[in-house]
Amino acid sequence: MNNRNTSVVKTKEEMKETVSFLRKAGKSVGFVPTMGYLHAGHLNLVKRAKEMTDVVVVSIYVNLAQFTKGEDFSRYPRDTEKDLIFLEELGTDLVFLPPPDRMYDNDHLTWVSVEKLEDKLCGRSRKGHFRGVATIVLKLLHIVNPDLMFMGEKDYQQVLLLEKMLHDLDMSVKIIRCPTLREEDGLAMSSRNCYLSPTGRRNAAVLYRSLIMAQKMYDNGIYDAATVITGLKKLIEEKEGRIDYIEVVDSKTLEPLPVLQKGCRIALAVFIEGTRLIDNMEIS
Ligand code: AMP
Repeated sequence: MNNRNTSVVKTKEEMKETVSFLRKAGKSVGFVPTMGYLHAGHLNLVKRAKEMTDVVVVSIYVNLAQFTKGEDFSRYPRDTEKDLIFLEELGTDLVFLPPPDRMYDNDHLTWVSVEKLEDKLCGRSRKGHFRGVATIVLKLLHIVNPDLMFMGEKDYQQVLLLEKMLHDLDMSVKIIRCPTLREEDGLAMSSRNCYLSPTGRRNAAVLYRSLIMAQKMYDNGIYDAATVITGLKKLIEEKEGRIDYIEVVDSKTLEPLPVLQKGCRIALAVFIEGTRLIDNMEIS
């Protein structure tokens, strides 16, 4: 238990004023944006932020603008009370918890588009998703005004795209990438894992196993991307996974690569029992 008190801030104005006061007092600010229903992967970002900055701000906001039509916005898991207990235990300084209807005005017209990167991988089946992500993150950054923002590599395309946005828009905040935290069987922690039945949950471990298999194939001299992808596809389909995509991509441009090479990324999205799960790994 940490004895520092956590303050919950609900309005943009109060958040801006509080951070401005802290910054004037010479404090550095770390920021962890989330959609709540926190797990150890999120909490690890908070721990990292605490190590690197004086004041840690976590936002919890389920951003409708990044859900595409027919996706799970209304049933996305939410448990703010539990989230606040976790954040308090970690000694989080401020939690930004705007009411659902207070982030966008009714006449909102401005959207941020990170061209090319937003159309690849997850962007193909989730049209408009990254436009929603980039816009909310830019808004949050203007409200929280942090020095550092902490994000997980589990959402690799997201972190890459946001780094590009910060660079292109000359913003001084820096992103600290944090590794993917996994369950014991390797499944990447995700708020959506709670949708899975016990069987689906067991089957879902195949995502990580397939990434490990890709690395093994590379270690054994199999470099042809199509051969590797076919191998992964077979393994995943044996566990009743429906593949959205499996790609071998350049780690900066996300362009598909015909041949595996050190430093490239294997990225995949798979439906298990209708729940879309993503994962990725660097080939080393
Ligand atoms: P979300 O609440 O899903 O929007 O995620 C908020 C942040 O937590 C993002 O930066 C994610 O990349 C990160 N995150 C989610 N799951 C994990 C995980 N298993 N390991 C590390 N970071 C994660």
